[in-house]
Amino acid sequence: MSAGEFVIEDLRAGIPGREILKGLSLTVRSGEVHAVMGPNGSGKSTLAHVLMGRPGYEVLGGTVTLDGVDLLALPTWQRARAGLFLAMQHPIEVPGVSLVESLTAARPVGGADDGVGERLHAEAARIGFDERFLDRPLNVDLSGGERKRNETLQLGVLRPKFAVLDEIDSGLDVDALADVGRRVQEATGEWGLGVLAITHFRRLLDVLHADVVHVLADGRVVATGGSELAETVDRTGYAAYT
Ligand code: ADP
Ligand code: MG
Repeated sequence: MSAGEFVIEDLRAGIPGREILKGLSLTVRSGEVHAVMGPNGSGKSTLAHVLMGRPGYEVLGGTVTLDGVDLLALPTWQRARAGLFLAMQHPIEVPGVSLVESLTAARPVGGADDGVGERLHAEAARIGFDERFLDRPLNVDLSGGERKRNETLQLGVLRPKFAVLDEIDSGLDVDALADVGRRVQEATGEWGLGVLAITHFRRLLDVLHADVVHVLADGRVVATGGSELAETVDRTGYAAYT
């Protein structure tokens, strides 16, 4: 199990002409689950995009390191190689590229390449992802829920050090939510995955247990606490924090 750190320090970023993240700091250690909650428009997806280096977003200040590696200096694929994984809020269809091809190219971090095929079937079974979908082009004709299972499957196969999950719970029914949440939770023990779980709602945290909960408002962390903070937010809403 790796003992590592994913450190975001005073991160300021946005789109040209508009600062969206206004000095955001948090540290996730291997094996920990941190939840980031916040109202619509608070900058949660921007955080996910900026961490993975999505074009169109600008970094204005601050640092992001993974086990000491300066991620902001790297292109997206090298951030992935360094051990960062992003489960997208809206996974896109990639016609012409199969799941296996994509995973082989992404290459498991810290492991041999040759295990992809085997892991794929094992992970599909664990997450309840239909084997029929494995040969399909990536996400093509998959429902929203199936895409979220697919993201989780990729996480299980690639075994990254840290994962940012952008509303992995959105569009999932109760059973899928339990499968996805359980798989991620188990990964924290299996290889020490550290998780930044972005979510609106507390229900994900019933299956995926957050060690730390952060509330994001207007691009800043305005409250940090234990799992009780998620319950408070669930009861009282975000108004007290904005
Ligand atoms: P959240 O995920 O918390 O709902 P977002 O990070 O998606 O919030 O958005 C934060 C704010 O930044 C919103 O006001 C949103 O409209 C704006 N924003 C984010 N990305 C873009 C973009 N690419 N172009 C224009 N506005 C954007
Ligand atoms: Mg979002």
